[in-house]
Order: sequence, then structure tokens, then C-alpha cells
Amino acid sequence: MDILKILSRGTKKSASQFEIQKPLNQPSTPQLYNDPTRGVKRKRKEDQSASSLNVDDDPDEINFFAPRTTKKPIVEPTAKEDQIEDASKSLLDEEEVRQVLKSHRLKFTLLSSHDAKRTKVKKSKKEEAKTKVKDGKKPLFPQPLTSFSEFRSTYNISARLSENLAKQGYRIPTEVQLGSLPLLLQPDRAISSSVAEELHFKTKRGVDFLAVAPTGSGKTLAFLIPAINSILRRRAGETGQKEHILEVVVVAPTRELAHQIVNEGRKLAQGTGVKIVGMKKDMRIPAEGEIDDDLSHDEASSKSDSETGSSEDEEDDKPQKETTTTKADILVTTPQILRNFLKSRTLPTVKSLILDEADVLLDPLFREQTLGIWSACSNKSLRLTCWSATMGSNIEGLMLEQLKSRGSSSVPLIRLVVGLKDTAVPSINHKLIYTATEQGKLFALRQLLHPKSSSDSMPEMRLPFLVFAQTIERATALHDELKFDIPAEAGGSTRIAALHSSLSDSARSSIVARFRAGEIWVLITTDLLMRGIDFRGVNGVINYDVPTSAAAYIHRVGRTGRAGHEGGVAVTFYTTEDVAHLKSIANVISLSEKQAGKKSEEGVPKWLMDSLPKMGKEEKKQLKKHGVESRRGNKTKITTQSAWERRKENNRRGAIAGSKNRKMQEVNSDTQGGDDGEWGGIDG
Ligand code: ADP
Ligand code: MG
Repeated sequence: MDILKILSRGTKKSASQFEIQKPLNQPSTPQLYNDPTRGVKRKRKEDQSASSLNVDDDPDEINFFAPRTTKKPIVEPTAKEDQIEDASKSLLDEEEVRQVLKSHRLKFTLLSSHDAKRTKVKKSKKEEAKTKVKDGKKPLFPQPLTSFSEFRSTYNISARLSENLAKQGYRIPTEVQLGSLPLLLQPDRAISSSVAEELHFKTKRGVDFLAVAPTGSGKTLAFLIPAINSILRRRAGETGQKEHILEVVVVAPTRELAHQIVNEGRKLAQGTGVKIVGMKKDMRIPAEGEIDDDLSHDEASSKSDSETGSSEDEEDDKPQKETTTTKADILVTTPQILRNFLKSRTLPTVKSLILDEADVLLDPLFREQTLGIWSACSNKSLRLTCWSATMGSNIEGLMLEQLKSRGSSSVPLIRLVVGLKDTAVPSINHKLIYTATEQGKLFALRQLLHPKSSSDSMPEMRLPFLVFAQTIERATALHDELKFDIPAEAGGSTRIAALHSSLSDSARSSIVARFRAGEIWVLITTDLLMRGIDFRGVNGVINYDVPTSAAAYIHRVGRTGRAGHEGGVAVTFYTTEDVAHLKSIANVISLSEKQAGKKSEEGVPKWLMDSLPKMGKEEKKQLKKHGVESRRGNKTKITTQSAWERRKENNRRGAIAGSKNRKMQEVNSDTQGGDDGEWGGIDG
């Protein structure tokens, strides 16, 4: 049976509007910004034998501008020691570095002055004069990573690790990776000692780091590669020492994201013996003052960890015995669960604390727990790295303050910003749709799900897609409402699901797994899923309810158009009531389109932009905290029908679908597998 035909009821014309399994256009490169005119041809100082880059040979092969599907193998995981050239040879000169950074829109800033009370991202001259705070911000130009092959040749990264990267098809580093990896792997190589000296900092003990890079731009690898490599380096130094010592803690705001990071990490660490564990409720990790010689659990599981890295949930469903101590090299956790375990315990062996989605982790919602974990990491040489697609200046200020209070003043805090701050990725098409009322949203969503003809003013949406609602109640109600919109023959109500935090852990992981497997096509969710989650095939995002901040918009729509995939569509419905707080979102859309080089007014017409009222600071704060007033709790229903009416209607539609299903089966058995019969839709 042709799923495409089934799902799009109506004419053949509309059938082509829905394409379920077809992912977004395959990108030729995972990089977002690739503007060679911003830079000029680079040349190496010396021979380039260890690198695949040869700028003078073939214009297609110019460093990162080469397509991902390049025929020449870039990564040489089995490179012999003698192939590893003298590191200094592959250094770019200052001018080259500047050009590469510029062409990829990478901006590094030294936020070194821990004395600064406050750092502002952008200050007009007037403001600067007013505040009189010298914040000591300086531009920096560290060496970029020109290709993953440099890992072996220049950064002497574990052969197994680079082999794992190649196995997963990573050929060209994304912007955030090419910018941050040298700095995190070998800061003293990335920044020359003379520059460090001039700016009064040292790189010997590493750097504290803050990266602001678009959604889906590969931040996870950017922090996992250095994390895994530092453990391998230590082990290589300690002859034969393979004991698991907790060296890295990764904090992420949701279980789903923590879980995803564990899976990514395990794929990368396959065969290296580095153990990556997701923190669970009853799990115990060796903390200070605990004797941790009971390693029976650890020995038993470490093999499977490194060998079944790609399998999801492999350890998660096993109940953790209360007395079991789990040893790990890298622990991935949500703030609450680790904080609950720690209480007054400390984590003295941890050398690297990674905050993924750092702005939300340091936001009031999680701040106390995150700072608690940070101070539990008592090792003097702890380094902090923070990652997000959005970052308020208050968060930077908070980081500086905390770092200062830990007394690591000679260690620099370096910020990397990729592209324009606080914009959505250029690969997404944005659409704002006015629906007047709540009821209008439901009509509009149904129209997106079942386009009647190609002349609809609605944008084309291809399944699978994510639908964001403001509250759990609304996500549940919308799910109830749409349950029968997908015909039984195409999987019916199993194709649509709601995911939110009031479901059990196992229900949550099962829904995520089914969505990843392509079994669920419409996933209705709350802001629980807005950050970090990487569903590769998501073709569209629908903001059924307007996001409550510009950052929320950027993160929600960033679930599509990942890793340079073109064609993702982000639709935002708004009612009369939303007009009052739409300005910041309209601004993000317009700025993002400008950055992508699109015609102005494509997503937001000028008349709309001009007529939207500005929002006050306090108003923004309230909206972010509580959401749109009339959609809170049970105030506004998704539909005007009562629950009783809806149940009745659902039963009726369920019965119709069931009867159609039976008829279909009869027809199919008559025609012996007549799978290609066209189905006219539930109303057909
Ligand atoms: P972010 O954390 O920046 O939102 P992720 O780390 O989740 O992004 O990565 C988004 C997607 O990009 C993932 O599916 C990942 O596998 C892919 N990806 C990361 N780095 C590369 C690369 N160098 N080349 C191709 N794809 C990549
Ligand atoms: Mg991420």
C-alpha cells in the first residue's frame, strides 16, 4: 500500500505534497556558512602530505568547502607514526587564520577579565562610556581545524576515535567544530604563547570556554571529542591503567537530551574502553570519601558499553540495584538527578564540566542545581565549557563571576560565536500564519495535515513533523483531537503521539524511539523537546502555540534543518491575542532570513513588522515565565467541543476508520495483495 497516497487524502495532486520517508535534501556539506569571498585562498607554509587539502589542485577540494561526499578519503585512521608531521608545519599564519575564521563567520573573544562585574555582548559607545566598566574583551584568532585528518596528523588524537568518526560518515568539521576543537584539544598550539603573554593569560592549564553556535551545528561532537580524547591521553600516560575514573560530567536540561548525548558518546568511544554512563535515579557513583572497590557491576557492563554503543537504552531498562556503584569515565546527567545524589558529596576527580544548553542550565529554573554541581566539582584544575545556540549577556556575567570566585584567574574564558547571535539556522523557511482564533489553529493544522489542493495558501509540510503546544494539557488535548486524522490504513492513531514530562520514563523513551524509527509521524510536544534533540528526519516544526521567547523560537524551529539540511519548514500560528507579543519572534525570523541572504519580507511582511508592538522587559519576562495567559492550565481549550462531544466524535471516527479498514482488507484479499489501490481518504 502506498503510504504517500493514503496519508494525503484527496486528489493525486495533493498526494505529492506529502512525502513521508523522504528526508530533507541531503546537504553537500554540514557547514552553514561557507563564504569563500570572505576569505582568500589559503596556502600551507610547508608540504601538505598529511592533509587532504590542496588548495592549488582542485577548486572543489579547498579545505572545508569541499562537499561531504568527496571521493578522496579525508580521514586516515591508520596513519602511521612516521606520517605524523611536525605539528608546527601545519600552522596557518595569522592572516590565513583570520581569513578562515572570517569566511566561516567565527568570532572568538577573550572574556578574560574575571574582575569585570558584567559583560555585555554588544555595547554602543555611549553605553560603554556610561557603564565605565572595562570588561577587558579582546578579539582572538586561534588556529582552526582545517579537516578531520588533522586530528591524526596534528592533534595526535586516538586512532580509534578518528576511525569511529570516519565510520559515522563525518568528513568535514562544522563551524563550531573547526573553531573549538583545536582550542580544546591543544590550547597552547591553537593560541601562540606570545599572544597569550601579551594578553596576560596562560593556556597551559587549558581554557574555560563558551560556544554560541546555531542549532544542529554539531556542538555535541565538539565537546565529546576532547572529553574522550583527554581520558585516552591520560590512560596512555599511565602504563596500562584502564581504571574508570570519573573525569568528565556533562549536564543537559532534559532526560531525552542526556540520553541522546550518551548514545552519541558511546558511538564515538566504541572500542576505546572509555565508559559513558547516563545518571539514573538509584545509581551511585563513587564520590569523595567512598570506598569504591565493589566493581562487579562495572566489570560486567564495561564490555557491553563499548561494544554496543549504538543501541539505545541498553542499560536504561535494567533496574539499578541500590547498592551498586557505577564507575564511569564520563557521566551525563540532568541537573536535578545528580544534585539529588550528591547532596554534600563532592566529585574531586572531575576535570571537565560541560554544560550543554548552558543558558537554560544557568537560568533561574535550574541555576541552583547547576551551580551546586559546579561547586561539587572540587578539583582545582576543573575546566568549564558551555554550549548553546542562545546566550544572554547575564549568563556570561554569571559565568565570569563564578569563575572568579573559584580563583582560576590565569585561565582565560574564551567565547566563540558562530554566525549572528540569536538567529535561527539559515536552512529553515519560516512562515507566520494568522489564524484569528484558537479554533482557527485547529483548522489550519488539519489543512497542513491534509492539503486539499496545491492552491492552498498553506506552506507544504512533509511528514514527519513536530507540533509544539504551550502546556501539557494542551498537548494532550491536541493529541486527543487529532488521533483519528491519520487513516487507519496508514497506521491510524499509532502515527501520532504526545510527549511531555508527565509521562513515565519508559513511555517517554518509547515515544522518542518510535519517532526516531519513523513509526510516529506527528509528535505533539511541549518545550520539553525544544532543546538539543536531534531527530534527523524532521521536515517541519509547527508552533501550534506561539513560543514564549525569541530563544524558545530559535530552539523549537532548530529541531529541523539540522546539519545543513535544506528544506525544513517552521510554521507559527498566531491569534489576535498573540499580536501583542509577536515582535521578538518576528525579529528573529527577519534577521535569520537576512543572514540566509533571502529576500527581506519573505517570512514577515513589512506591514506586519511595523504594526507589531514592542514589548517591555517585564512583559517579556512574564511571558517567558508563565506563557500566554489565556492558554495556561485549562483556560483555553483546543476545541470548542466539550470532552463528551469529543469522545463521541472520536468514537464515531474510530468506528468509520475501523469499518473502512475491514472493507480494505476484504478488497485486498479479493485482489490478492492489491497494494497499489488508491485510497480516497476518510472523507472520500
Ligand atoms: P547541536 O548540538 O549543535 O544542536 P548536534 O550535535 O545535535 O547539534 O548535531 C546535529 C547533527 O549534525 C547530528 O545529527 C550530527 O550527527 C550531525 N553532525 C555533527 N557534526 C557533523 C559533521 N562534522 N558532519 C556531518 N554531520 C555532522
Ligand atoms: Mg546540542
